[in-house]
Amino acid sequence: MAEIRVFPLSCAVQNYSWGKVGLESEVAKLLSSGDPLVQIQPDRPYAELWMGAHPRGDAIIRDNRIPQKTLGQWIADNPACLGTKVKDTFQGQLPFLFKVLSVDTALSIQAHPNKELAAKLHAQFPEHYPDANHKPEMAIALTPFEGLCGFRPVEEIVSFLQNVPELRALIGEVAVEQLERSGSDDPRGVSAALRVCFTRLMKSEKKFFVDQLNMLVKRISQEEEGKDTSGSNGELLLRLHSQYPGDIGCFTIYFLNLVKLEPGEAMFLGANEPHAYLRGDCVECMACSDNTVRAGLTPKFIDVLTLCEMLNYTPAPSSSKIFPAVQSQLDPNVYVYDPPVPDFAIMRIEIPASIKLYLISAIDSASILLVIQGTAVGTSTAAASEMSLCRGSVLFISANESISLHLSSPDGMLLFRACCLL
Ligand SMILES: [Zn+2]
Repeated sequence: MAEIRVFPLSCAVQNYSWGKVGLESEVAKLLSSGDPLVQIQPDRPYAELWMGAHPRGDAIIRDNRIPQKTLGQWIADNPACLGTKVKDTFQGQLPFLFKVLSVDTALSIQAHPNKELAAKLHAQFPEHYPDANHKPEMAIALTPFEGLCGFRPVEEIVSFLQNVPELRALIGEVAVEQLERSGSDDPRGVSAALRVCFTRLMKSEKKFFVDQLNMLVKRISQEEEGKDTSGSNGELLLRLHSQYPGDIGCFTIYFLNLVKLEPGEAMFLGANEPHAYLRGDCVECMACSDNTVRAGLTPKFIDVLTLCEMLNYTPAPSSSKIFPAVQSQLDPNVYVYDPPVPDFAIMRIEIPASIKLYLISAIDSASILLVIQGTAVGTSTAAASEMSLCRGSVLFISANESISLHLSSPDGMLLFRACCLL
C-alpha cells in the first residue's frame, strides 16, 4: 500500500466563555455535522475549533492505519509533508494554526507584537508571553461579523471627543486640543497626538474611569426611546458595557474602527494593529504563536504600557481594513487571501452546482481543508481509501498531493484551505 499522506482530522475545541452557546455556535454546528458521535451540550460555549498541530490542541488523526495519534506527532516523523521550502523556512514545523471562531461576547482589546518585540517580551515575561514568535492573524467572516480594528480617521475621533464629555474628561483638555489642532498635512504630528490621547485614556485611574463610564452609560440609557445616539456610539457602548461593566476597553470604541464583514470578507491583523473581535463566526488563520498584548475587555492579564507603546497610530477609514481576496488565475473557483507575511494564506473554494468532479490541486505546501457546505466523495492516491466529505469535515493534505472531489450535493460546495505560499 502506498504511503498515506492525506487523511481526515478530528479537531480540538476550546470552550472559552466568550463563545456562542450550544448549536448557536458555528463551531458546534461544524463539529456535530462532521462527526455524528459528538454530543453538543446546549448550555456550553463552543468558542474555537483548532485545526493544526499546536501543542494545546493538536488534531487527532482519524485513520487507524496511521501509527501516530496526532497531526503534530505525524509531522514530526514526516517533515517532508510540509513541502521543501516550508520545511526549511519554518524548521520542520507547520507554520500556521487554522481555526473557526464563534464569538458571542467581545474578545479583549489586543495587539500582537512584531518578531523583535515578541522575542523580547517572551524573554522578559515568559509567564505572560509564552511564545517568541510573532502572531499575524486573518479572519474571514462565515456569518455577519463585527470587530474593532485600527485607529479611526482623526475627524471621527475628534467628533466623539466633542459629543462624549465623559471621554474628553478622561483624556484632558490639553491632549484633546492638541489632537483637534493636528493637521492632515503632518501625519507624524497626528500620530503623536493620537498616541498621547489614547495612552492618557488607557492609563487613567480606575476610580475616575469607572465613574465616567457609569455617567456615560446612565446618560445614554436615559436618552428618549428612539433618539439617535450614534454621536456617542450609544448602542455599541451599552452592549460592551453589559458584557464588561466598568472596563476601560468600553471607551476604545471611540478610537478604533468598527469593521463589519459580510460572509467571505476578511480582515488582516498585522503587527501592532489594535483590534478586538465583537461578534459573529469566522475562519481564522494565524502564525503559530500565543503572543498577545491585551489592555481591556478581558479578565486576563493586561499590559497597558506595552500596548500603548507598541501600537501603530496611523488613522485610516474602516473600509481600508477589509482585506481583498484575489481570484486565482489558474482556477476561477478559487479566491486567495494572501497577507503580507510568509506564514500562511487562505483559499476560499466555491464549487458551483454545475461541477460534479473537482480537483483540489497539488501545491508545494502542506494544507488543511475545511468543508463549510456541500458533500462529496474524495479520492487521492495518497489517501488510504475513499473519504466521505460533508459540512465540518477537515482534511490534512501533504505538499504536492491532490484530491479529486466527486460532488454529491446539488448546491455545490464551499471550502476553505489554509496553506503557506512562499
Ligand atoms: Zn488578535
